[in-house]
Parts: sequence; C-alpha cells; structure tokens
Amino acid sequence: MKVHGKTVAAGNSRPDKKRPKQPETVPDEQVDSYEITGTGDSSCIIKGESSLSPQQKRFIRSTIHKAVQFFAGNFGEVKRPLVLSVLDTGDVLRTGYHVKDDVINFPPDEKGRRPALDSADILVHEAFHALVAQAYPQLTADQYVNESEYVRLHEGLADYFTHQLYPDESFAEGLGEGGKPLRNYRNRRRVSLSPGGHSQGNALTSYLLDNQVTPDQVRGFLEDGDFSLRGLAQISPKLDRALQLDASLSLKDKVANYPASDLRKYWLEEGKPLEVAFEANQSLQETHPNLSIEWLRPSGFPSKTFVFDETEPNRFRVEPKGHGAEKVLAVFRDGQEIIGSRPFYFGSKD
Ligand SMILES: [Zn+2]
Repeated sequence: MKVHGKTVAAGNSRPDKKRPKQPETVPDEQVDSYEITGTGDSSCIIKGESSLSPQQKRFIRSTIHKAVQFFAGNFGEVKRPLVLSVLDTGDVLRTGYHVKDDVINFPPDEKGRRPALDSADILVHEAFHALVAQAYPQLTADQYVNESEYVRLHEGLADYFTHQLYPDESFAEGLGEGGKPLRNYRNRRRVSLSPGGHSQGNALTSYLLDNQVTPDQVRGFLEDGDFSLRGLAQISPKLDRALQLDASLSLKDKVANYPASDLRKYWLEEGKPLEVAFEANQSLQETHPNLSIEWLRPSGFPSKTFVFDETEPNRFRVEPKGHGAEKVLAVFRDGQEIIGSRPFYFGSKD
C-alpha cells in the first residue's frame, strides 16, 4: 500500500488488540501513529482545485488523508490517490462517489455553494465509498449499485467509518433541513420498517455502534465475500441477535375505498376518503407497544394538500383539502424516537 510515497504494511498500523476497543479514542492519539504528514498531498487529486481557497484545500486534503490512513490501517489496501472533483460541468447533480468514473463529485448547489466540502463527515463518508471500490472492487461492481442490499450495507458502513474518525452524535451537523444534522449515528430505526437503502443504512450504523462491532470485524466482513445483511450479522453474535429481532418486525398497511397500489400511489377524489390501516404483527406489538404513526412530508412538515384523520389507533382517513400531488411519509415512532417510515404518493385533481 502506498500512501504519501512510502510503503506501509497495513497490519502494522491496526489498533493494538490488547487495548480495550473504544472507537471513541481513535482520532488524535492513534492517528498520529499512522504518520500523517500534515498536508496529505498524495492522498487525493482535486480536479478544479484552483477555485478553492488555500484554507479549503488544506482542510480537504488533511481530512481525506486522515480517512485514507485510517482505511489503510484497518480496512484494506489503498492503491491510488482518491479523485475529487469540484469542476462545475453542469452535468453532475449529486454530491457523492460515482462508481463508473471513480470520482467523488462536489457539484455546486442552486446558490453556487458546495457546503459538503466544509463537512469532514461528508468527505470521510464519500472517501470510504471510493476506498472500498479500490480495495474490494468485487463489492462495488456495477450490477450491485442499484440494489438496496448494496446501498444499505455501503451507506451503513460509510457512516460507521466516519464515526470511527469523528465519534460524535451526528453526521454532517448543520447540513440537514432547517440547520439540523443530516443524520444521527445512534438511532432506533429498524431496517425492516425503513423504506430505502439510505434509511436502512442509517439503522445499520446504529446497530454496528450499539453492538460494539470493531473495525477488525468489519474488515473480516469485507474480505469474506458474503456481502449481504446475513453475512454482516455473522460477524458478531450480539449483532446477529439484534438483526434477527429487527427482521421479525412487520407492519402491514391495508387500504379501503380504492384499489390497493403496490407503489402506494393514490389519486383521491373529494368526498371519497382513502382508508389506511396499519397492522403490527405480534413481534412489533411486543417490541414497540407505544407505536404511533404521523404523516409528514420528507421535509418534516405536515402535508399542505391532504388531511389525515386518525379514526382509531393506527387507522387513518385520508382526504384532499386542495389540488396537487405530494409525497407523504407515514412516520413510525416509539415515543419520540423514529423507528421507521413508509412513503405514500397522493394526488387530487378537479
Ligand atoms: Zn454514501
């Protein structure tokens, strides 16, 4: 493995196994032993670098370098510098690692800014995706990219990796809706009650941290080749038990008054409410006896166009109060804690 011009045996810089495994102590103390050069000039190439201030360049380079060193010491081989792009080509819309081009893109937002470049959490998270693609190309093959199994594992592990370097409460502070963090590392989300790869990944990060899964165990998982949720559960009996309980939870939704839609898309007529009933199975009732459901737009605000009337616990009558179409999430809670959600798409016309 070659980082900043030197060959370092990956095994040598792993955390000392005799020490108690406390990810919280990782950053300063252990990072020093990876011989960070300060600038980290050879850890990444930044396309369009001239548009950045010297201070930004230093921050990005030292953050990426820290990620590269930690990955090399704990997860796998680093073969080449990471490529970041801050070019403004207009054809890249999303911040993130692009597998085909092997580039981490930071396109400007509508205001022309790139707030993700100032977030060490986002830089490290994206660096992890790119580093896994180098060290374990078989886990990043094109055909997996759109599978939810692939997405949830990569996203969950990328946040876990970020938490090893910055072990605080939240991921990307200030970059979420209304200045909130994008995510909390520790949460009570359930994989089985979460709709997509990203929210399931958020649930997985919490399981990994709560069950004290170590970087060594994650490395074993990456090397093993069974890149599935089942495979991940095998790295720790505690994690396995937690994921089995999770998998036993089920919340069915049944509709009346309209034909059921697999995509949960409903065009509603005035005077003809859609009835939606959520039915928790026994395991869910026992595990979350205080389950409640709230309807919110993805921004976290209530719907502007539809009224949700809870006629009985977890049974709703949905009616339009205006015209338009909206994505609305049924948000599942236990007390104040979100344990999952499910998207519905409602529309109403004249
Ligand atoms: Zn990601």
